[in-house]
Amino acid sequence: MDKIKLPQNPGDTGWKEILHKRKVNPKLSENTNVDYLIIGGGFAGLSAARRLNQINTEAKIAVLEACEISEGPAGRNSGFMIDLPHNLASDDYLGSLEKDREQTLINRSAIEFAKNASEEYEMPPEAIQLVGKTNAAATKKGMKFNTDYAKHLDKTSESYKMLDAQEMKDLTGIDYYINGLWTPGTAMLQPALYIQRLANGVSNNSNVTIYENSPVISLEDEGRHDGEKVWKAKTSLGSISSPKVILAVNGLVERFGYFQNRLMTIFTYSSLTRELTSDESNILGGSQEWGLTSADAMGSSVRRISGMGGSRILVRNRWSYNPSMEASDSFMVSATKSHDESFKARFPMLEKVSMEYSWGGRLCLSLNNVFAQGEVDDGVYSACCQNGLGTAKGTAIGIITAEKITGTINSLVPDFVDEEVPKKLMPKPFMWLGVNSYMRWKELRAGKEK
Ligand SMILES: Cc1cc2nc3c(=O)[nH]c(=O)nc-3n(C[C@H](O)[C@H](O)[C@H](O)COP(=O)(O)OP(=O)(O)OC[C@H]3O[C@@H](n4cnc5c(N)ncnc54)[C@H](O)[C@@H]3O)c2cc1C
Repeated sequence: MDKIKLPQNPGDTGWKEILHKRKVNPKLSENTNVDYLIIGGGFAGLSAARRLNQINTEAKIAVLEACEISEGPAGRNSGFMIDLPHNLASDDYLGSLEKDREQTLINRSAIEFAKNASEEYEMPPEAIQLVGKTNAAATKKGMKFNTDYAKHLDKTSESYKMLDAQEMKDLTGIDYYINGLWTPGTAMLQPALYIQRLANGVSNNSNVTIYENSPVISLEDEGRHDGEKVWKAKTSLGSISSPKVILAVNGLVERFGYFQNRLMTIFTYSSLTRELTSDESNILGGSQEWGLTSADAMGSSVRRISGMGGSRILVRNRWSYNPSMEASDSFMVSATKSHDESFKARFPMLEKVSMEYSWGGRLCLSLNNVFAQGEVDDGVYSACCQNGLGTAKGTAIGIITAEKITGTINSLVPDFVDEEVPKKLMPKPFMWLGVNSYMRWKELRAGKEK
């Protein structure tokens, strides 16, 4: 196998920058053996580590993370841990009723697991808050999406509340939105804080060791020991041998030789303002904290946060499909400009407020909206491809994979049934042109929702 290459994470993630500096775990610098090796320290990898440790406290578990915990996509997302269907590849986020019901139960098991972890590890409240989220509409078309979504929720007996323009203003302080659909089951994360505290909690006084800044450059078959195949993961300074390996690297699983030409690595981008002064907060009005996804899947997510990093506003929009898994600098510049425009259009009263941090990050989609999961080689399991909803789905597949690899019958995610494999993609040049053209067209059509 060629040396596994690790793509860059563009820009500094504001979520991590606004936190106090944490103590980073040492790099792997020895040759060692463990019972379970997890590659990747995001939602999937750390949830797998927690679940493995719950199942067998005696087992020796190692996590190898390429960068610092929370430096990768797990600390770059917008923090919506959504319980309801949220299929980014569809116009309305929805799928079939049956599939949506099943997906909702799986996401809720993941939220429950995260909430339990936050309590057990005594995370600060802002790490995860079960406060729901609002699907915001700035246009009549967006409002129609919300109305249709509500009809779908009626059919699945889910609760929600429709907000009119005044209620949206009361919530956000701005009069940009004409309608909102609030659903109660979403947990809002400070993603970098949650993932850092999950890593600390899972490795504190346990048999779990987390190595940071330790990218795996190869995973090789080391032959059989006591009848079991053993795998050796090498980093530049050391190696870990284990009969059981979990790949929790999302779309990068392709670089380990699995699911090739079946996964799309897409980038999306965010910016976070500088801290608002108390005068600016008063001028803005509204609640101190809220989270809006867009009624149009190509629109902007917008959040107001008020925690350790002060009162700030986050804008996330723009998508790019990069089969090379590298986001170009020029696209990063264009996305940052787009965040400024979306911010100015929504918050004219905050004309002196600018963005302090801008960043991009990877997520992974499959054409048929399924995980890239299961045993892919003797003792090697994949917990990848979260289809954009990685905070919940990544957590779920981490739990499921830990249970599978240990043969655990009592699942914390009882509603999961094995899915089909991700569908094959067309050749990369066609995919690049097709997906990017399609996304650009959809972004244009999103209009004021962006
Ligand atoms: C700007 C942005 C906004 C988003 N908003 C949301 C949102 O609001 N809600 C939501 O649910 N999702 C959101 N997402 C998607 C979400 O962040 C991802 O789906 C999620 O992080 C996937 O979790 P994961 O654990 O599977 O993978 P990751 O979080 O990508 O973790 C995989 C880890 O593996 C490590 N790794 C890769 N290769 C190697 C190697 N060779 N050796 C060692 N380690 C390796 C990486 O460094 C990475 O830390 C967003 C993403 C972005 C970029």
